[in-house]
Amino acid sequence: MKAAFLIGKEQIEIQDAAQPVVGNGEALVRVKKVGICGSDVHYFKKGRIGEQIVSGSFILGHEAAGEVVETGPNVKDFTVGQKVAIEPGISCGKCEVCLTGKPNLCTSVKFLGTPPTSGAFQEFLAMPAANFIPLPDNVSLEEGVLSEPLGIGLYAVNLIRVSPGDSVAIFGCGPIGLAILFFAKLAGAASIFATDLIPERRAYAKQAGADYVFDPKKGNPVKEILDLTEGRGVHSAFEAAGQKETLVQAIDSASMAGKVGMVGIPAEDCWQFPSFGARRKELALLNVRRSAFAAEKVIRLIAAGKINAKDMVTHNFPLERVSEGLQLVADYREGVIKAIVDI
Ligand SMILES: [Zn+2]
Ligand SMILES: [Zn+2]
Repeated sequence: MKAAFLIGKEQIEIQDAAQPVVGNGEALVRVKKVGICGSDVHYFKKGRIGEQIVSGSFILGHEAAGEVVETGPNVKDFTVGQKVAIEPGISCGKCEVCLTGKPNLCTSVKFLGTPPTSGAFQEFLAMPAANFIPLPDNVSLEEGVLSEPLGIGLYAVNLIRVSPGDSVAIFGCGPIGLAILFFAKLAGAASIFATDLIPERRAYAKQAGADYVFDPKKGNPVKEILDLTEGRGVHSAFEAAGQKETLVQAIDSASMAGKVGMVGIPAEDCWQFPSFGARRKELALLNVRRSAFAAEKVIRLIAAGKINAKDMVTHNFPLERVSEGLQLVADYREGVIKAIVDI
């Protein structure tokens, strides 16, 4: 089978690899669609995210959907030909964090496309059947792919507890920021403020229901948000760009006793933030890492017509051109929101 190997910084080669063999309790899936995520871009450009470092040649990709082609012993719930989305984290299911409902934090989790676990930019994947989420007939494979990044937004909104009537600010409208927007809206936010540098993302945010959209290059979004909330600030502010400026903006725009969700993947380890303001306002700063039990909910919401995220997919690339796709996402070119690799 074909697989895309990262063989050096910004260098991908399509090579032949052995097709995985399906084991006990596993299913084999023909991967059809894989989303390009900001974290793939971090590995592609820098070879690492924090302490997770790529060594040797490595397969990226973790936002995937495909079709079951074989089931191993003791797999009853799946049939050949079934469309599935893939939950990229294989957690142990036995440790304290798993048992308390946080498999995303399992210390022995194996996560697709995160060293040393190879990812989904390949034609076949064998994984425990529990990692496959069946897709109803009215949910496409691309929507199955989107259920992973969208799940992070849903999980973040639940973790921060956005409630009906709340005001919400979202700094960064990439796929995760837009996902936060969808679910903040569904949670009943009364007003939503969103910022992004890219015009197409601001336009998408507006069309997806943001009440106010700001270009941080023109004017000061924090000042605008404070003006529009009569100086109170927002109940919940989300940092979804992974930039230190946007964390500062989130903190400065949050209200007294407000909440700040830190969702973006930071480019560096130590960040400075306005501690006087954060203390004076008694802000809750909550970090968000990946998600837990969220993609299934997203798929149910898509199937029920409660969210429509299809047009978040702005670009498609064949497997042979995956590095072009990674480069496009890295450079934020052509108004890209989500690029998908067709395998
Ligand atoms: Zn992702
Ligand atoms: Zn565990």
